[in-house]
Amino acid sequence: MRKITQKYYIAGTDVGVGVFAKIPIKKNEVILKFKGRKINSEFTEKRNKKVKKYRWGDFLQIGNNKYINIEKPGVLVNHSCNPNAGIKNDKILIAIKNIYIDEEIRYDYSTTMDEDDWTMKCRCHQKNCRKIIKDFKYLPKTAREKYLKLGIVQNFIARKFEK
Ligand SMILES: [Zn+2]
Repeated sequence: MRKITQKYYIAGTDVGVGVFAKIPIKKNEVILKFKGRKINSEFTEKRNKKVKKYRWGDFLQIGNNKYINIEKPGVLVNHSCNPNAGIKNDKILIAIKNIYIDEEIRYDYSTTMDEDDWTMKCRCHQKNCRKIIKDFKYLPKTAREKYLKLGIVQNFIARKFEK
Protein backbone atom coordinates (compact mmCIF):
# COMPACT_ATOMS: atom_id res chain seq x y z
CA MET A 1 0.00 0.00 0.00
CA ARG A 2 1.23 3.49 -0.84
CA LYS A 3 2.06 5.54 2.21
CA ILE A 4 0.10 8.77 2.32
CA THR A 5 2.26 11.63 3.45
CA GLN A 6 0.60 14.19 5.69
CA LYS A 7 0.75 17.45 3.79
CA TYR A 8 0.57 19.87 6.69
CA TYR A 9 1.86 20.71 10.14
CA ILE A 10 0.48 22.83 12.99
CA ALA A 11 2.38 25.90 14.22
CA GLY A 12 1.86 29.28 15.86
CA THR A 13 0.66 32.37 13.98
CA ASP A 14 -0.20 35.92 15.02
CA VAL A 15 -3.82 34.77 15.46
CA GLY A 16 -3.10 31.66 17.52
CA VAL A 17 -2.25 28.46 15.75
CA GLY A 18 -2.56 27.60 12.10
CA VAL A 19 -2.01 24.91 9.54
CA PHE A 20 1.06 25.10 7.31
CA ALA A 21 2.25 23.24 4.22
CA LYS A 22 4.81 20.56 5.06
CA ILE A 23 5.41 19.80 1.39
CA PRO A 24 4.65 21.78 -1.77
CA ILE A 25 0.94 21.40 -2.56
CA LYS A 26 -0.27 21.80 -6.13
CA LYS A 27 -3.39 23.70 -7.16
CA ASN A 28 -6.52 21.49 -6.86
CA GLU A 29 -4.78 18.98 -4.59
CA VAL A 30 -6.70 17.75 -1.56
CA ILE A 31 -5.14 19.01 1.68
CA LEU A 32 -7.41 17.54 4.35
CA LYS A 33 -10.97 16.56 5.13
CA PHE A 34 -13.07 18.34 7.77
CA LYS A 35 -14.35 15.84 10.30
CA GLY A 36 -16.63 16.09 13.31
CA ARG A 37 -20.08 15.56 14.74
CA LYS A 38 -23.10 17.04 12.95
CA ILE A 39 -24.89 19.61 15.09
CA ASN A 40 -27.53 22.37 14.77
CA SER A 41 -27.69 26.03 15.81
CA GLU A 42 -29.14 25.12 19.21
CA PHE A 43 -25.79 23.52 20.01
CA THR A 44 -23.69 26.35 18.56
CA GLU A 45 -25.66 29.01 20.47
CA LYS A 46 -25.39 27.14 23.76
CA ARG A 47 -21.67 26.69 23.26
CA ASN A 48 -21.13 30.33 22.30
CA LYS A 49 -22.74 31.43 25.57
CA LYS A 50 -20.57 29.09 27.60
CA VAL A 51 -17.28 29.98 25.98
CA LYS A 52 -16.35 33.59 26.69
CA LYS A 53 -13.93 33.96 23.85
CA TYR A 54 -15.64 32.53 20.82
CA ARG A 55 -13.29 30.88 18.41
CA TRP A 56 -14.47 31.62 14.91
CA GLY A 57 -14.15 28.65 12.68
CA ASP A 58 -15.05 26.06 15.34
CA PHE A 59 -18.17 25.16 13.42
CA LEU A 60 -18.37 24.53 9.71
CA GLN A 61 -21.78 25.41 8.33
CA ILE A 62 -23.16 22.81 5.90
CA GLY A 63 -26.85 23.80 5.82
CA ASN A 64 -29.34 26.43 6.98
CA ASN A 65 -29.35 24.93 10.46
CA LYS A 66 -26.62 22.35 10.09
CA TYR A 67 -23.01 22.47 11.19
CA ILE A 68 -20.05 20.21 11.74
CA ASN A 69 -18.36 20.64 15.12
CA ILE A 70 -14.97 20.38 13.48
CA GLU A 71 -12.03 18.57 14.99
CA LYS A 72 -8.31 19.11 14.61
CA PRO A 73 -6.61 19.78 12.28
CA GLY A 74 -9.53 21.23 10.25
CA VAL A 75 -10.62 23.51 13.09
CA LEU A 76 -7.18 25.14 13.13
CA VAL A 77 -7.25 26.34 9.54
CA ASN A 78 -7.43 30.15 9.65
CA HIS A 79 -9.32 32.63 7.49
CA SER A 80 -7.86 34.84 4.78
CA CYS A 81 -9.48 37.40 2.48
CA ASN A 82 -6.91 36.26 -0.12
CA PRO A 83 -6.96 32.49 0.45
CA ASN A 84 -4.81 29.75 -1.04
CA ALA A 85 -7.35 27.04 -0.23
CA GLY A 86 -11.09 26.44 -0.37
CA ILE A 87 -13.70 23.84 0.56
CA LYS A 88 -15.10 21.49 -2.08
CA ASN A 89 -18.17 19.28 -1.51
CA ASP A 90 -18.80 20.85 1.93
CA LYS A 91 -15.80 19.27 3.68
CA ILE A 92 -12.75 18.72 1.47
CA LEU A 93 -10.07 21.40 1.78
CA ILE A 94 -8.26 21.82 -1.54
CA ALA A 95 -5.51 24.16 -2.76
CA ILE A 96 -6.76 26.87 -5.13
CA LYS A 97 -3.19 27.89 -6.01
CA ASN A 98 0.20 26.26 -5.68
CA ILE A 99 1.21 26.38 -2.02
CA TYR A 100 4.86 26.45 -1.00
CA ILE A 101 6.54 24.70 1.91
CA ASP A 102 5.93 26.58 5.20
CA GLU A 103 3.20 28.73 3.70
CA GLU A 104 0.13 28.96 5.93
CA ILE A 105 -2.98 27.32 4.49
CA ARG A 106 -6.07 29.50 4.75
CA TYR A 107 -9.57 29.62 3.28
CA ASP A 108 -12.18 32.38 3.17
CA TYR A 109 -14.68 31.75 6.00
CA SER A 110 -17.33 33.70 4.08
CA THR A 111 -17.56 30.83 1.58
CA THR A 112 -19.09 28.74 4.36
CA MET A 113 -21.38 31.17 6.14
CA ASP A 114 -25.00 32.16 5.71
CA GLU A 115 -26.35 33.18 9.10
CA ASP A 116 -27.01 36.95 9.06
CA ASP A 117 -25.83 37.60 12.61
CA TRP A 118 -22.32 36.35 11.96
CA THR A 119 -19.39 38.77 11.74
CA MET A 120 -15.69 38.44 12.51
CA LYS A 121 -12.91 41.02 12.70
CA CYS A 122 -10.18 40.09 10.25
CA ARG A 123 -6.46 40.47 10.76
CA CYS A 124 -5.27 38.61 7.67
CA HIS A 125 -3.08 41.58 6.59
CA GLN A 126 -3.88 41.00 2.92
CA LYS A 127 -4.16 43.99 0.59
CA ASN A 128 -7.79 43.16 -0.12
CA CYS A 129 -8.68 42.51 3.53
CA ARG A 130 -12.37 43.18 4.12
CA LYS A 131 -11.70 43.96 7.85
CA ILE A 132 -15.13 42.64 8.87
CA ILE A 133 -15.96 39.17 7.65
CA LYS A 134 -19.62 38.44 6.98
CA ASP A 135 -21.87 35.96 5.20
CA PHE A 136 -21.20 34.91 1.62
CA LYS A 137 -24.08 37.04 0.33
CA TYR A 138 -22.32 40.22 1.54
CA LEU A 139 -19.12 39.54 -0.42
CA PRO A 140 -18.35 41.84 -3.36
CA LYS A 141 -19.90 40.37 -6.50
CA THR A 142 -16.48 39.70 -8.08
CA ALA A 143 -15.39 37.63 -5.07
CA ARG A 144 -18.68 35.72 -5.04
CA GLU A 145 -18.35 34.87 -8.72
CA LYS A 146 -14.71 33.83 -8.32
CA TYR A 147 -15.50 31.45 -5.46
CA LEU A 148 -18.58 30.00 -7.19
CA LYS A 149 -16.55 29.38 -10.35
CA LEU A 150 -13.86 27.61 -8.33
CA GLY A 151 -16.56 25.43 -6.75
CA ILE A 152 -15.45 26.27 -3.22
CA VAL A 153 -18.73 27.59 -1.81
CA GLN A 154 -20.71 25.31 0.53
CA ASN A 155 -23.39 23.54 -1.53
CA PHE A 156 -26.37 24.95 0.40
CA ILE A 157 -25.13 28.51 -0.30
CA ALA A 158 -24.08 27.89 -3.91
CA ARG A 159 -27.57 26.56 -4.67
CA LYS A 160 -29.08 29.93 -3.64
CA PHE A 161 -26.94 31.69 -6.25
CA GLU A 162 -27.57 29.27 -9.12
CA LYS A 163 -30.25 30.29 -11.53
ZN1 LIG B 1 -8.84 39.83 5.90
